[in-house]
Amino acid sequence: MPIKKINQWIKKAPAHSEDSSSMISLVRYLLFAWIPYYCAVLIYTIIRGYFSYSAVIAIAVVIYAIALNLSYKIRVRTCAFIVILTTIASTYILTYGFGWRCSFQNMIYIAFLVLWYDAMSSLKVKISLSLIITAIFLSLSTLTPFGGTILNPDSLEFRLLVWANIIEFSICLSLTAYFYCTLYVDVERTLRINNKQLKLMSETDTLTGLMNRRFAQNELQDIEKAKDISFISIAIGDIDFFKSINDTYGHDCGDYVLSELAELFKSSMTLPNFVARWGGEEFLFVFVNKNGDEALLLLEDLRNKVRNFDFKYKDKSFNVTMTFGLEEYSRTIGTVSTIEAADKKLYFGKQAGRNRVVF
Ligand code: GH3
Ligand code: MG
Ligand code: MG
Repeated sequence: MPIKKINQWIKKAPAHSEDSSSMISLVRYLLFAWIPYYCAVLIYTIIRGYFSYSAVIAIAVVIYAIALNLSYKIRVRTCAFIVILTTIASTYILTYGFGWRCSFQNMIYIAFLVLWYDAMSSLKVKISLSLIITAIFLSLSTLTPFGGTILNPDSLEFRLLVWANIIEFSICLSLTAYFYCTLYVDVERTLRINNKQLKLMSETDTLTGLMNRRFAQNELQDIEKAKDISFISIAIGDIDFFKSINDTYGHDCGDYVLSELAELFKSSMTLPNFVARWGGEEFLFVFVNKNGDEALLLLEDLRNKVRNFDFKYKDKSFNVTMTFGLEEYSRTIGTVSTIEAADKKLYFGKQAGRNRVVF
């Protein structure tokens, strides 16, 4: 498809990687709108014998074509500057010649917008250039009689020229507005994606992909406030002799065990229950709407799954066990004290020989 090819060509990245690719696309689109339009006006001026204006437009078209070609090689700002300058100069002469009422001067507004689109230039530069353009406008309005035109204001020719100028201006304005709009949408989308990633990073543990301690604490606070929850049981689980896994097979193997166990927990602790990485090799298990006895059954099942899981790391194969301390939550003691009580029971479990659930 030629349109697709043209589109790709217009969107081709600028020569300098730090330059804005959307700004160069905007300049190229405007050139694509300006060059044919100026060619049409060129033909019109030749037919009507306004050769001095034909010369101005021909020079502008040549400069536009060169700028379009150079847009793939030079800095975006230089290219935009050439285009803005050419537009201002040519519209100035055409407005001066054809009169204010022919509306050629509207194109200077587009130059204004392109100038402000450049995110890299400072506010000072933008304001200074805007003031210069305003001065150009003022001088043009002073030099050019408002009502006067070399054409007959009642003629169809005059009307057609005004309409053509207004339509061309509207096309260029819409194009520029579209770029401003996509710029805003792009920024918003990038922000939204970044926020999502940041939120995810602040909530999850990178090694295991489980929720981290802070997020689990927030979740517990929310659960405590919920009115439709009758029971909550909380357990702390700790890997037995985990230090010796690190010491025997290496720290990477320890990490492998942690992430494998996390996968096992994820498949067993389905919503509304949840599991979090509480500390180094300690995990928090929350059973929602389960009393202590029900949670005990589920934890026993999980403990057996852990014990029977065959870990295979490189050419090594081994098993691990875990000890759990379980406590039923009550509103009078709150979640913090429930966790403390579960932790105490975990300690008793370790003392009693490990690989067990203490309730
Ligand atoms: P116990 O049965 O009494 O719990 O013995 P243990 O060896 O599991 O307990 P200890 O507290 O002595 O050792 C825990 C070890 O867990 C020490 C620490 O290096 C290791 N550890 C903590 N976080 C990580 C981690 O993210 N990756 C790895 N590989 N090891 C970790
Ligand atoms: Mg521990
Ligand atoms: Mg341990």
